[in-house]
Amino acid sequence: MVDFIGVRRVQELIGDSGPAAFMAGLAREIEADYRRWAEFDKSPRHATHSSVGVIELMPACDGRQYAFKYVNGHPKNTPKGLLTVMAFGMLADVETGYPLVLSEMTLTTALRTAATSAVAARWMARAGSRVMALIGNGSQAEFQAIAFHALLGIRELRLYDVDPAATHKLQANLARLDLEGLRVVRCSSTAEAARGADIVTTITADKRNAVILTPGMVVPGMHLNAVGGDCPGKTELHADILLRADARVVVEFEPQSRIEGEIQQLPADFPVTELTEVVTARKPGRASDAEVTVFDSVGFALQDFSALRYLHRLHRAQRGRHIEIDLIPDLEDPKDLFSLLGAPPARPRLFPAAELTA
Ligand code: NAD
Repeated sequence: MVDFIGVRRVQELIGDSGPAAFMAGLAREIEADYRRWAEFDKSPRHATHSSVGVIELMPACDGRQYAFKYVNGHPKNTPKGLLTVMAFGMLADVETGYPLVLSEMTLTTALRTAATSAVAARWMARAGSRVMALIGNGSQAEFQAIAFHALLGIRELRLYDVDPAATHKLQANLARLDLEGLRVVRCSSTAEAARGADIVTTITADKRNAVILTPGMVVPGMHLNAVGGDCPGKTELHADILLRADARVVVEFEPQSRIEGEIQQLPADFPVTELTEVVTARKPGRASDAEVTVFDSVGFALQDFSALRYLHRLHRAQRGRHIEIDLIPDLEDPKDLFSLLGAPPARPRLFPAAELTA
């Protein structure tokens, strides 16, 4: 039998500690896995594009466990009442190849994306950053807000979305959460939101080379957490921001980010740093208070590996709903797969035996 973690079970697991504590634990797992980067079998995700979106498969393996995630990206889905991003995934045992757990990963992707953004920002943003602009107020936005409040100490959030209803929803959800000392300011443009911000998070959805942030909105010392541009032809930053002499760009996994990240707009030899180099202190996340730091996030399979293992451990350790599914046959004789179909039916008889011998 294979463990199953559905949406309700994830709600239950997060409900026990609250999303901030859940993401703090997840951020620790992700950072620890980025420190043992060399142990992972890594590859860019396999993406199948259509004119309206993308469906991706994301594998990662550390020699002991193997994980994959199925995830989509369909920016035109929301008017149909469907999510832009939804996902599920699996963790398996390398020794046998048997699955350990099949899990929902829509909520989990939002949690792991925000936790990864916070890990990067802890190494890259100026110490004492307190004000963050949050551009794009859709499904992922609350998770980014909670992670940056809890893990970075953000105390002012400046919100903007082209859809005022999305900002209204975010504001209402944040008011319900009542995050300690958090001031939420609604802005009428990206430029207004970015003014005075220490950190700018862009997490918009549009399958094109959008220019959400222009060079004039970026000032020395800012940290940019660019999350929404995550597939070919889908970016958020004006290329000149990345080309600033004082800019430092950090990516998750360079071969994938060259195809999918903001850096797809730049020559293939444009220098970037990988997040693993930063969290192992081999390269600085920021060299001075004046640098402009950019976390060019596209989402990498290692983060899903970390999230699946974390979820599965919590699931096993905590009481509550525990569902197993019969995804894989359980056989007495592993060579007798056919036994699952029961005793073979008797051979049909076309003629009574007496007629055949007559
Ligand atoms: P969503 O559709 O729920 O929300 C996106 C929001 O962006 C919408 O409210 C939309 O109105 C707004 N928007 C679009 N264009 C804008 C503009 N020019 N200015 C301001 N706001 C604008 O999508 P979501 O689930 O929140 O995902 C957001 C983006 O993040 C998607 O592009 C998704 O692919 C990406 N994403 C990245 C990662 C990662 O790891 N890097 C993980 C998950 C999602």
